[in-house]
Amino acid sequence: MFTNYNITVHLDPGRHQLAAQVELKLKMPHAGRELEFYLHRDLHVVIDGDKVEKFRRHDQPFVFAPDSATWQVELAQDVAAGEVVELCFDYTGTLPQPFPQGWETNRLTPQWVELGMYGPWFPWNNQYGAFTYQVKIYIDEGYTVVGLGSTQRQTDHWLLTSSRPVEDIVLTAAEGLTQAGGEAGIYVFCARQEDSQGARQLADDARWTLDYFSRWLGRRRVRAGLTVVMAPRDKGGGYARPGFVVMQGLDRKNFIHELAHLWWTGASVDSWEDWLNEAFAEYSAVRALKELEGREAFERYLDNKRAHTQGLPPIRNLPRDHKDAWLVLYHKGAVILHQLQQALGEEAFTGLLRRCLREEVDTTDGLIALISDIAGEGQAREFANWLDN
Ligand SMILES: [Zn+2]
Repeated sequence: MFTNYNITVHLDPGRHQLAAQVELKLKMPHAGRELEFYLHRDLHVVIDGDKVEKFRRHDQPFVFAPDSATWQVELAQDVAAGEVVELCFDYTGTLPQPFPQGWETNRLTPQWVELGMYGPWFPWNNQYGAFTYQVKIYIDEGYTVVGLGSTQRQTDHWLLTSSRPVEDIVLTAAEGLTQAGGEAGIYVFCARQEDSQGARQLADDARWTLDYFSRWLGRRRVRAGLTVVMAPRDKGGGYARPGFVVMQGLDRKNFIHELAHLWWTGASVDSWEDWLNEAFAEYSAVRALKELEGREAFERYLDNKRAHTQGLPPIRNLPRDHKDAWLVLYHKGAVILHQLQQALGEEAFTGLLRRCLREEVDTTDGLIALISDIAGEGQAREFANWLDN
């Protein structure tokens, strides 16, 4: 059994208000009696449960959710790792617009609702592993809801469920949110009329790209269909969850990067090892663009990355919240992968990528071991050296 959230949430976008009741069946991530959860700092929270002794709030935010506060829960007695603890969270609040320090992705406004872990709207801890959920969403009748998992309209609410374990609960909603394109398991939604032609273009790109990656890399790791939501906002960028992508604007490269995460996912996202997700997705995206836009465009993308990553710190051990993390883990990483492709040749390089995916290699040490296996110890040492420089 996985940790499970059973949530009822009332959203009032006009007033920026949220009220939720959460029944959390938490599979204890460790033995002991101390637990920690992040929630948006403007929520008034009450925590209850058979085993709850007390709870208190710390203003310390979680580094990847700058608008969060930390809630510490103390249980009445020690609980063994893996045992299930039931906790109830009851909270309400008016969320500021925009979130003061946030990454501008999460918001609760009349025009656009987008809630997830960045300004956490549900009690969350990135260390507690994947979970399943059922969320009942009550919102003004005119709104359409699309989220991570399966979304269904019920008589007076929406039901968002994920029976597959995931690590975020993302829900988006808007009055004009409609499906603009999609077939064969790929659905593209947009909230603005002026985005609908672009959304259809993305659906076409998606079909081509998924086919290209399948031929090149083999079966993708995330098997579900794909829902893409074009967020009507100008800041914050996009992100991908298993089978669910939020896009900001029509940037084709970013879109293909997000699609590549259906293959490149699984490495730790809060350490430098995230380069295994990000650089591989980025390099795969640039390779797809080579097919779509030609070799010259491909070289331009690479030159651009080289120019912007000169003199930056090494990938290995770079703190994930380092100011240059994006340039180093995404772009410098992609340049290094291209160097590896040049050193190994296309056939061996493709063989390496396919084995990484098949064997679910989620650590850099695992990758280096594979390189050693395919191309010898000398090549593996040289590659390790690139990560250290
Ligand atoms: Zn990415």
